[in-house]
Amino acid sequence: MHRFFVAPQCIHEGQATVNGQVARQAARVLRLQPGDNIVLMDDSGSEYVVTLRSISSSSLEGDVIEERKGLGDPGVTLNLYQGVLKGDKFEMVLQKGTEIGISNFVPVLCRRSIPRASKEWADGRHSRWYSILTEASEQSGRACIPILGSTASLSETITVASGLRLMAWEGETERGFRETLVENMDEIKESGLSFFVGPEGGFDHEEVEEARDAGVVLVSLGQRILRGETAGLAMAVAAMYQVGEMGK
Ligand code: SAH
Repeated sequence: MHRFFVAPQCIHEGQATVNGQVARQAARVLRLQPGDNIVLMDDSGSEYVVTLRSISSSSLEGDVIEERKGLGDPGVTLNLYQGVLKGDKFEMVLQKGTEIGISNFVPVLCRRSIPRASKEWADGRHSRWYSILTEASEQSGRACIPILGSTASLSETITVASGLRLMAWEGETERGFRETLVENMDEIKESGLSFFVGPEGGFDHEEVEEARDAGVVLVSLGQRILRGETAGLAMAVAAMYQVGEMGK
């Protein structure tokens, strides 16, 4: 069944009324007909199975035949603080990270981020990034869209990040990511995991020291160097696996 996020007011007393882009997509692209069923989500965690009564490229109407709790939302909170990356790499992280089950994405401006990256630059991309999160949530069966935090510096984010705070640093020789996950599983399940991943050029020494001083745990992801867009996704997969969110 096709899934769409809609504004909460589109679903009222057992009836669904949707205009705009979703109607256009359903009518023109998917060629849905009266009698077809779709699933609507209002970003509350619930989803609504709707039988279409009428559909045109500007509006659709239908009856809610079932309201249920969405099953696709993660049971553990993963917050990815990702050093801003070049081109479409950050967008890929948003898309794949949503499928994997990340709850919050925060773009972090690092010293080695691309020079033109700035808060204004990132703010200008906010609506595009949000639509990537929305589409990936629809496709992957989530009923809540991940939160896209506002772009901030490392200093602004390290103190406010919640749960267990980790920074992936290729210079770490002692502490591994896996053992850190295993040792802190209770805290992660209870309060979540915030993980910091650098941009293409990595974190510089001052950033690493600042994080360490703020109580962030530095971890190694092993002997191979992963690209910025790979490291955060790999950490998310490993954390989800360890928590038991990738099939039992
Ligand atoms: N410029 C660096 C690598 C940066 S990789 C170099 O060439 O040496 C981009 C980011 O991915 C890093 O900042 C780090 O957060 C993460 N990362 C990649 N490989 C890692 C590893 N083996 N251990 C820990 N973190 C890693």
